[in-house]
Amino acid sequence: PATAELVASRVLDVPDFPQPGVVFKDLMPLFGDGEVFRQVIDGIIAYHGRDSFDVVAGIEARGFVLAAAIAYATGVGVVPVRKAGKLPRAAYAASYALEYGEATLEVHQDAFTAGHRVLVVDDVLATGGTAEATLGLVEQAGGTVAGFSVLLELAFLGGRDRLAPRPVHALLTV
Ligand code: IMP
Repeated sequence: PATAELVASRVLDVPDFPQPGVVFKDLMPLFGDGEVFRQVIDGIIAYHGRDSFDVVAGIEARGFVLAAAIAYATGVGVVPVRKAGKLPRAAYAASYALEYGEATLEVHQDAFTAGHRVLVVDDVLATGGTAEATLGLVEQAGGTVAGFSVLLELAFLGGRDRLAPRPVHALLTV
């Protein structure tokens, strides 16, 4: 089957998580299926082209899993984009609004070699706040964004528009 159908078949809808009224898309069945996981990783690499990036950045926490697999398959390094307070050395920080409150992401100031092309990955694109903050951090730390991939895009939340004109690649859009 095509990758989009495989992703669709490995997503569970969890009502009222993490709060009432929200339907959480749980991709753990996809991560847990070795063949689908491999096809998804290969699909992301093929979409961008393995020579189009120098390093891959994963957004905590499920983005780490994707980034590590892409890095291993292509022989590049991994940079973690972490939630506030986790990184041990000098970091850049970007805060963004959540539905209730605020979140902050951080990246080490020396995470990227100047001019390196960075592929950024995460599992789900929802409102786009997380991705927008991350892409800004990559640029602040001296990288250039080579591309951005997610497994699942929730189009009705409009995240893609907040990231324009940067291209957004989703294996499945709903
Ligand atoms: P955004 O900032 O609203 O685009 O939310 C995206 C971030 O929150 C990503 O890091 C996702 O891992 C996480 N996220 C938001 N909604 C979901 C969901 O329904 N399932 C899994 N992760 C989600």
